[in-house]
Amino acid sequence: PPDVEELGRSSWTLLHSITATYPEAPTPNEQSNVKQFLGLFGKLYPCWVCAEDFQVFMERNKVRAESRDEFGMWMCEAHNDVNRKLGKKEFDCAKWEERWRTGWKD
Ligand code: FAD
Repeated sequence: PPDVEELGRSSWTLLHSITATYPEAPTPNEQSNVKQFLGLFGKLYPCWVCAEDFQVFMERNKVRAESRDEFGMWMCEAHNDVNRKLGKKEFDCAKWEERWRTGWKD
């Protein structure tokens, strides 16, 4: 079975990268695509306890994807939910775009 930490790091890279390349003004079809993708991702994610908790999170926090910023913030909150569960530091979601799209300015 895949290593849960390695799988997690690469999966968050994929998920945040999808939000980073998401349109600023998505069409209804583009919004529907990401919701379908995450619904299936939550069923297929190959760490079953992770997948179950992620499905519960999405049940309580419906995917918000009416704009890139809204979707990026939603994903950051989803990641922070896992961070809290694992006792990791929460990430400052004001910085999601700097981390995943535009790059740190230093
Ligand atoms: P990661 O949490 O993988 O983060 C990678 C990088 O993302 C960080 O270095 C930081 O730069 C950035 N980052 C951190 N937080 C945020 C944020 N909120 N928004 C944007 N960027 C951020 N592991 C378990 O043990 N149990 C679980 O139930 C579990 N559920 C998971 C559910 C999902 C959907 C996913 C994708 C992963 C899950 N994981 C779970 C894996 C876990 O989240 C971590 O990926 C893993 O523990 C490795 O952590 P890490 O400290 O290397 O950094």
